[in-house]
Amino acid sequence: MAYSFADEYARNLAEQIRHTARDREYVRWALEARKQYVDLRLRQDPEIRKVYLEAARRAGELLRARNRWPSDAVLRTRLRHLQTELEEVAKAFNDEYTAKLKVHITKAVEAGTGYSRAIMVSLAKQANWEVGPVVRLFAQVNQQAVEACWARTKNGLFLSDRIWQQGQQVRDAMKEIIQTGVATGMDAKDLARALEGYVSNGAQTLARQYPNMMKRLKGRIPANLTYEGLRLARTEVTAAFGEGAISAARVSPSYKGMRWILSSAHPLPDVCNDLAERDDFGLGPGVYAPGNEPMYPAHPNCLCVLVPVHETPEEFVQRLRRWQANPATEPGLEGWYRSVYAGQRKEVTPISLRFPASLGARIDPDQIKARYKPEQVLEVIRASSWESSRALKAEYADHRGDWVKELGRALELKEFEDLQEALLGDSRAAVYYYVHRQAGEELAVYIDRIHWSGKVLRNVGLVYNIAKDARVGFWKITKGQSYFRAQSDFVEIKPLEG
Ligand SMILES: [Zn+2]
Repeated sequence: MAYSFADEYARNLAEQIRHTARDREYVRWALEARKQYVDLRLRQDPEIRKVYLEAARRAGELLRARNRWPSDAVLRTRLRHLQTELEEVAKAFNDEYTAKLKVHITKAVEAGTGYSRAIMVSLAKQANWEVGPVVRLFAQVNQQAVEACWARTKNGLFLSDRIWQQGQQVRDAMKEIIQTGVATGMDAKDLARALEGYVSNGAQTLARQYPNMMKRLKGRIPANLTYEGLRLARTEVTAAFGEGAISAARVSPSYKGMRWILSSAHPLPDVCNDLAERDDFGLGPGVYAPGNEPMYPAHPNCLCVLVPVHETPEEFVQRLRRWQANPATEPGLEGWYRSVYAGQRKEVTPISLRFPASLGARIDPDQIKARYKPEQVLEVIRASSWESSRALKAEYADHRGDWVKELGRALELKEFEDLQEALLGDSRAAVYYYVHRQAGEELAVYIDRIHWSGKVLRNVGLVYNIAKDARVGFWKITKGQSYFRAQSDFVEIKPLEG
């Protein structure tokens, strides 16, 4: 039953997103961004839980290393040692939790900005503007949104402080259990097992298995150690999605307002019902004018959704025409073009990549890696286009059918381009350098699997030629990574991420 409820919710939500996005392609992009976010949320809990289990395993190992408890006096010194070691466990927990959340926040921001970014790239193409500045603009928005997430304080504490508190809680709970266990005469192995059981199944299970210890521990350890850590991570990742959605929308000239879509997973009416219903700006229920977006999420574990409302492509193009004829008639667009778009254009003197290799010469991989950061390399490829529209069409003609197995149809030209952007925007993609036997130095961006248009496409690769400063290939790399690895002077600039 619970499943069909979730199903109904998803259908209802998709319906609401459709209603908000209106244009067929916009709907696809909005659903894509949503899916990216949902996938992340589904992965997140088990990943955070694993960080806790890892801490328990480490502490358990410390105990097992002391198989037999020595005499009382020695035991006390040993327990003191154990305490310093538990600090280490807490430190490792802190590092791992932070690393996980860094990845989650970055991905959530990307999912949040993805929809407005896709719209803006498409509009720039229609306006015959260079896409490079738009891509750079959104890269900057992503970076700033991630920074904002880490800079936000709650009750005067930074996110890093709140993570640290979780580590302290882990340490304290373990210390309590170990001390109590020793006092009640448990041996090291049992104690290790109790500790791991507590972290993975909560205090209740522990109470059944070790009633004596639990009687003494009563109230001194949280019933569920992972609860707060999970809640913290969920809330921050939701906030990161919102931060991305709002900041990306705000730099988009077609942005009209932010729609708050209620999660029907809300069992009782709460503040979210109000947020989804009010019409303070005459933009429709739950839609907030730019600059007036509400705080999101409204409460921990909130599953409501933010979807930016943009002009339809037709509306935007009409406005664009008016602006092109007379900029003064469209002050909003004129202002955006001059301050936001042109700023991105000026600021960047596009670097051209130079590597110390010539055709057939052996090069030092480290030298390549030391030269540019992977992000810089990607930036150049993102800003590049095909040598000519003929070159693009030729590649399209050859490879439009490459993913027919996954999609059930060939790609349209626009989709062929869209998929390239999706690949270049996916932070898991690998970046390679190699020297092609005929074409010379090339860079490739490659991913094993990518979620696109509601399907999973496999082995997507794009090839950029350094001398031409242009994209020269885009196809399904059936051999996968090994295709690139077999090229001469292969260098992995950035590895493929899970
Ligand atoms: Zn809510």
